[in-house]
Amino acid sequence: MTTVGILGGGQLARMLALSGAPLGLRFLVMDTAADACAGQFAPLLVGDYRDEAALAEFASKVDVATFDFENVPAESAEWLAGRVPVFPNPRALAVAQDRLVEKSLFRDLGIPVGDFADVGSLEILRREVERLGGACILKTRRLGYDGKGQFRIKSPEDVDAAWQALGTQAGTVGLIVEAFIPFERELSVVAVRSRDGEFRTWPLTENWHVDGVLSASLAPAHVDAALAEAACAHARRLAESLDYVGVFALELFYRNGELLANEMAPRVHNSGHWTIEGAETSQFQNHLRAVLGLPLGDTRVLGHACMLNWIGEMPEASSVLQEAGGHWHDYGKEPREGRKVGHATVRADDAASLAHALARIGVALERQAQVAPVIARLTG
Ligand code: AMP
Repeated sequence: MTTVGILGGGQLARMLALSGAPLGLRFLVMDTAADACAGQFAPLLVGDYRDEAALAEFASKVDVATFDFENVPAESAEWLAGRVPVFPNPRALAVAQDRLVEKSLFRDLGIPVGDFADVGSLEILRREVERLGGACILKTRRLGYDGKGQFRIKSPEDVDAAWQALGTQAGTVGLIVEAFIPFERELSVVAVRSRDGEFRTWPLTENWHVDGVLSASLAPAHVDAALAEAACAHARRLAESLDYVGVFALELFYRNGELLANEMAPRVHNSGHWTIEGAETSQFQNHLRAVLGLPLGDTRVLGHACMLNWIGEMPEASSVLQEAGGHWHDYGKEPREGRKVGHATVRADDAASLAHALARIGVALERQAQVAPVIARLTG
């Protein structure tokens, strides 16, 4: 019996555990919260990721360890790696935890990125905002997610307000300022690399965010083949340079026929949830196969799929469930503003049928604004 340990017990760990059940796997999930939603399906060890006694107990009970949460302290991942195989490796985790290190690596690997600079003081911020042309985003280097720890600078006049909002973090988590990219689309490539270096990607996904949080994903993205190929080549170069094992996502901006990398997520990713029903093998199953050294599954898409995120509270399920290709995922979480509590995936054999199903769901749930950009892409 193999036990997979997962650091972080949110919906990603929950979906990993669900997809691992047919493989006969056992799981142990570690989280700081006693009500972490993966605990409804797997034994939960409640503890701080910096607590060596808790980590030692975790290590003693698992055969391999992985993450549902990328902000596990890199030192804890290192400590664990001395006792049990850890995938992805702690270096990959450390790179992905720091936006400056990550963007510098993209640039070194020849993966195009927007301009950026390290920001250690208000003076540097002022100078860099001028250099970048005024429109920027100031972000914390570490511990930011879903648009948190970010301040949009529209012109040099906003610099003082930006510094007031985030300046105190310059000495702790660090700050990076990025040129604002007036992108036409946001895309992601979800990829998997096995222990012996086999690399696969799922088809490119288009994503729509609201207030920095993913709202909808469409796969395959409606982009030309050369662009999709370039995105996959970037992901492969990144995975090979980090000797990455497992699933990760590379988030990209598309503008003027060009791709610019935004960030990587060193774990299964929200923009890959559609793969549960929309691909031959899901990102969750392939992540487990990769970390366990099993053969990877086929990543081909089954028709067209759209994932809709439910934020704050779950809507009523029946309008999705009554669709032939409608699938429902309730993470079993307490409703809370801004919290990801579930998602739906709608799958169809052709784009027009998917657009019709989404239109019906949008009306029934009064979420026309959420489905509208996806329908426009499918019918455009
Ligand atoms: P991130 O946490 O970096 O993924 O940012 C969250 C969202 O903010 C992204 O998905 C984009 O919608 C937006 N965003 C982040 N960085 C930039 C940028 N440099 N230019 C334009 N939009 C951005």
